[in-house]
Amino acid sequence: MLRGLQQKIGLEVKENVSLKNLTTMRLGGNTRYLVVVHDVHELLATAEAVIELKVKFFILGGGSNIIVSDSGFDGVTIKNEAGEVSIEGNEAVIDSGIKLPVLIRKLAELDFGGLEFLSGIPGTLGGAVINNAGAFGDNISNHLKSVTILDREGEVRIVLKDDLSFKYRSSLFKKISKPEKRGVILRVRLILRKGAREEIARKISNYLRLREKNQPKGLSCGSFFKNPKVDLMEKDWEELAKEGRIPAGYLLEQIGVKGRVEGGIFVSAKHANWIMNKGKGKAEEVRILAESLKAEVDRRFGIQLEEEVEYIGFNGKAT
Ligand SMILES: Cc1cc2nc3c(=O)[nH]c(=O)nc-3n(C[C@H](O)[C@H](O)[C@H](O)COP(=O)(O)OP(=O)(O)OC[C@H]3O[C@@H](n4cnc5c(N)ncnc54)[C@H](O)[C@@H]3O)c2cc1C
Repeated sequence: MLRGLQQKIGLEVKENVSLKNLTTMRLGGNTRYLVVVHDVHELLATAEAVIELKVKFFILGGGSNIIVSDSGFDGVTIKNEAGEVSIEGNEAVIDSGIKLPVLIRKLAELDFGGLEFLSGIPGTLGGAVINNAGAFGDNISNHLKSVTILDREGEVRIVLKDDLSFKYRSSLFKKISKPEKRGVILRVRLILRKGAREEIARKISNYLRLREKNQPKGLSCGSFFKNPKVDLMEKDWEELAKEGRIPAGYLLEQIGVKGRVEGGIFVSAKHANWIMNKGKGKAEEVRILAESLKAEVDRRFGIQLEEEVEYIGFNGKAT
């Protein structure tokens, strides 16, 4: 397999590489194979090759929304570092591996804004589209026109935003649980807003300041659970609710989980929806803690929390 893949793509295929340092949670085991792609042609060629070879694979962006199992991933990890940006009028066509902070800065240098609300999110553009990343009342799909994908049949297609079923922290891609069945986002077409460079810079620093103030510091994936939709609002929830969703952090705080520890993993004392790694934590401990938090919220409120993060390389539930 190794030689076959290497020959097809002409890129180095590393074996048994730790994914720990490629994720913001800094835990998990090795990937069987790792290919780092630096442009969209390498991304396409590698994804086409693994589809043809019928090998299990996943695309790794910033690794800021995944928990990799302690036993690792028994397939090919394609680390996406494709990051070209080209402007067409008030639209931009951007490779999916660009890091969001780099993209926002590049656009600001060209006097384009609109994505400042994503400042401080450590993921790539591709990962942001999968998760419909958002903050401060806005999300990426509001700025998206279309994506170019390699679909699971191996066809390159342009898919318009309306066909991608974007919802809160969800997209058509994310609903397909096996990453290799989802297809690969190659490029993203965004609609931009022309703006004054100083005004864009001011917005960026305001958002970064808010994050600095409210966000826990340390190893995490950001918010762990999605804010659940609630049909029957309790009276004191109404003020907190946005579009029928109540903050998961609020529910978790009510059951007193801040600071709870499971081995090397803990719930932030600052924000009850942030599960963090002290440094030597295990993915299994994340699963155990997450399952117990879900069970407690269910018992107390009858609400089922759902992970915003994705588990990679796991089989079955936490024991
Ligand atoms: C400190 C911190 C703060 C955060 N704040 C926010 C926030 O405010 N709002 C928010 O929404 N999120 C937030 N996040 C979560 C996360 O950063 C975002 O969801 C981000 O967009 C994920 O991108 P990524 O590149 O890291 O994805 P990864 O974690 O690398 O991957 C996530 C999933 O997307 C898939 N994927 C990635 N790229 C592609 C591609 N090109 N094609 C197909 N599949 C792909 C992966 O296979 C995986 O299934 C935060 C995380 C941290 C650590």
